[in-house]
Amino acid sequence: MQQAALDELAIPWRYLRLPLPAQLFPETVRALPEAGYAGLNVTVPHKEAALAVADRSSPRAAAIGAANTLSFSDGAVVAENTDAPGLIAALGEEVAGRSALVLGAGGAGRAAVWALREAGAEVSVWNRTAERARMLAGELGVGHAETPGQFDVLVNTTSAELEAGVDPLQALGLSGLAPPPLVVDLVYAPGGTALAGWASDGGSRVVDGREVLVRQGALSLELWTGRPAPLATMRAAVQNGLDGD
Ligand code: NAP
Repeated sequence: MQQAALDELAIPWRYLRLPLPAQLFPETVRALPEAGYAGLNVTVPHKEAALAVADRSSPRAAAIGAANTLSFSDGAVVAENTDAPGLIAALGEEVAGRSALVLGAGGAGRAAVWALREAGAEVSVWNRTAERARMLAGELGVGHAETPGQFDVLVNTTSAELEAGVDPLQALGLSGLAPPPLVVDLVYAPGGTALAGWASDGGSRVVDGREVLVRQGALSLELWTGRPAPLATMRAAVQNGLDGD
């Protein structure tokens, strides 16, 4: 997705995969500006470490407590979180004043709760381990739900879908419920997820994780390059990647 975007923009950079063990993360990041890197996307499990290693961070990354984007500017490491605005951009409709339930209290759940709250939604969070939902809700000043009930917007940030032998709808307490008008599933899979199927069968508008992936990546690319991201090219690259899986 990022390489396709750079090629489209005729920027002669390479986007590389750089697997890192946690103990090497800080020293490697510190060495990259000297080595000519412009920045990094950072994924699980390094997002908190990315914030910690930065010389400066945006108020958003600091409030969320995690960074998925690092930019190197005059040798300084600058941290940003584009997961949150990427989610809001992917929604494609206003959520201010609407009730929203976030399923999951991990890293993605935390960014989603913060993003929806900032966008003016009345946010609640549900999690399999209820104590984590209560803690997150208390920290970010939103509600927590003991069971998923009726909401205008549902955002799944759990990885239940990816666990072998798990019925995700049952695991998330959604079996037998009617889906709300807008459902976002951060998880994506070739052929779609069970949750997205449940939502579209029930007449919901569904935003799937590919669009969220593209939007957060596009915002990162714009930070590094200062150029508008070619969204259509990025979407096509993600689709081709999934089709090729
Ligand atoms: P994480 O920090 O490990 O959190 C995982 C969450 O899933 C926790 O809330 C966990 O609940 C819940 N969970 C796991 N298995 C479950 C099950 N069987 N039943 C119910 N809940 C279960 O992971 P993360 O970083 O937040 O990422 C979560 C998912 O979002 C991943 O699949 C990731 O690929 C996806 N994601 C997508 C995008 C995108 O751009 N589309 C961006 C970020 C993440 P407990 O607390 O009870 O363990």
